[in-house]
Amino acid sequence: MEQEKTLVLIKPDGVQRGLIGEIIGRFERKGLKLVGLKLLQLPCHKAEELYFPHQGKAFYSYLIQFMTSTPIVAIALQGRNAIELVRLLNGATDPAESEPGSIRGDFSIDVTHNIVHASDSPKNAQRELEVLFDSSELFEYQRIEEPILHRLTT
Ligand code: UDP
Ligand code: MG
Repeated sequence: MEQEKTLVLIKPDGVQRGLIGEIIGRFERKGLKLVGLKLLQLPCHKAEELYFPHQGKAFYSYLIQFMTSTPIVAIALQGRNAIELVRLLNGATDPAESEPGSIRGDFSIDVTHNIVHASDSPKNAQRELEVLFDSSELFEYQRIEEPILHRLTT
């Protein structure tokens, strides 16, 4: 079975609004496996590494300031098609387009303070996971319902 890993961040607004449990619960209930998890205040150089593709854009410096302002939660998730699934659960960046039922659709109204980040491709997922996690901070284990989740029962 093809498994992907992806990075999710609960941004400072999500932490300050007490949404950590709600957000992690959504990923867990979907069937994605938490393989890395920590609370940290993002240092400026890591925020810049994470968002380097956006360097030079009008929103860039405010985004860096926001992301480094107070603690965030970093989450590594694993599962079949995890990268695409997590972006679907997060919802669109633009609050006018994020569907109700998605995290952004349910909880955010601003394009910058939009609660969550998620990697958008296998290449970026690998790069972003390396920015946030040492290899010793990522774990391997079985979730008890994996045979049912992934249709591995006989
Ligand atoms: N962002 C912003 N203004 C914009 C577009 C994006 O402040 O016009 C912020 C927003 O917090 C977003 C992040 O920059 O989540 C990265 O933008 P991207 O287009 O990569 O959106 P995402 O992948 O997070 O949906
Ligand atoms: Mg992005």
